[in-house]
Amino acid sequence: MRILKGADASAAIKIQVAEGLERLKGKVPKLGIIRVGERADDKSYERGAVKRMESFGLRVQSYVYPEKISHEDFEKEFRTINEDPDVAGILLLRPLPGQISEKQIENMIDPAKDLDGISPANIAKVFAGDSTGFAPCTAEAVVEMLKAAGISISGKRITIVGRSMVVGRPLSMLLLQENATVTICHTRTRELAGACRSAEILVAAAGKAGMIDQSFVGKDAVVIDVGINVDEKGRLCGDVDFDSITEIASMATPVPGGVGVVTTAVLAKHLVRAAGLAQKV
Ligand code: NAP
Repeated sequence: MRILKGADASAAIKIQVAEGLERLKGKVPKLGIIRVGERADDKSYERGAVKRMESFGLRVQSYVYPEKISHEDFEKEFRTINEDPDVAGILLLRPLPGQISEKQIENMIDPAKDLDGISPANIAKVFAGDSTGFAPCTAEAVVEMLKAAGISISGKRITIVGRSMVVGRPLSMLLLQENATVTICHTRTRELAGACRSAEILVAAAGKAGMIDQSFVGKDAVVIDVGINVDEKGRLCGDVDFDSITEIASMATPVPGGVGVVTTAVLAKHLVRAAGLAQKV
C-alpha cells in the first residue's frame, strides 16, 4: 500500500501561492484567525494555520476572545475585523460558545473574505458547481490530494462517511463536479461496511477513532482519512484503523501528516485568491 502524504499536495499548492503572491506585487495578504475561548482543538488548528501562513510567506493575526463574551460584543469585534481592509481573509474557529449565534455570524461574514466557505453565498456556489466562491478548505483538500496523487476522479465510485456541512456535504458536491458517482453515509446508513467496501475511493469523515477497519475497505481502494481524533493513549489518530487495511487498500492517507496538512495549504491558497480578487489582479 502506498502512503499518500499531505506534503506532496501541499508542495504543489505552495507553488501556486508563490505565483499568486507575485501577482500581488509586494502586498502580502493577512489572514485573520478568530478564536473564542481556549479549546485545545481550536488552538491546535490555529497553531498549524499560523505556521503554514508563515512558511508560505503570508501574514497572519489571531484575534482571541474570552469564552464568555456576549453575542453583542463578539458581533461588534467581528464586524471590525470583517470590515478591516488590511484583513484579506478570515478563518473563524467553530463551534462558537452557545451564547453566540453562529448563524448570524455566518450571515455577516463578507463572502469575499470567507476563506473556509461558511457564508450562505459560498455554500450556494459549492452546491451549484460554481467555482468562483470558496469551498470549505478540508473538502477542497481531499480533492487536491487525489489530484496531486494522480488519481482520476471522473466516473469513480466514491463513498464518504459523514454528512457535515464542513466536510461530507461540500465534499460530495466537489466530487460530483469532478464527475464522480458519490454515496454519502451517516449514522442511519444500513449496511455501512458494504457501502464503503463497494467504493473505489473511500473518504472517512466521521470523527470516530479507528472505526474504518479492513471490513470497510474494498480490494485496491484508495482511502482518504479526514478524521482527527485522540486515541485512548492520547495520540492523534484518524477514523481509519491504518494497520488493518495495509494488505487491502492500494493507497491511504496517514493521520497526522495527511489531509490536515493540505487543509491549511488550501487556506493559504484561498487567502492569496481573496487578496487578488480584492486588488482585481
Ligand atoms: P461531525 O460534524 O461530527 O460529523 C460527523 C459525521 O459522521 C456525521 O454526519 C455523522 O452522521 C457521521 N458519523 C459519525 N459516526 C458515524 C458512524 N459510526 N457511522 C456512520 N456515520 C457516522 O464532524 P465533522 O466536523 O464533519 O468532522 C469529521 C472528522 O473530521 C472529525 O474527526 C474532525 O476532527 C475531522 N476534521 C478534520 C479536518 C482536517 O483538516 N483534516 C477538518 C475538519 C474536520 P450523522 O449526521 O448521522 O450524525
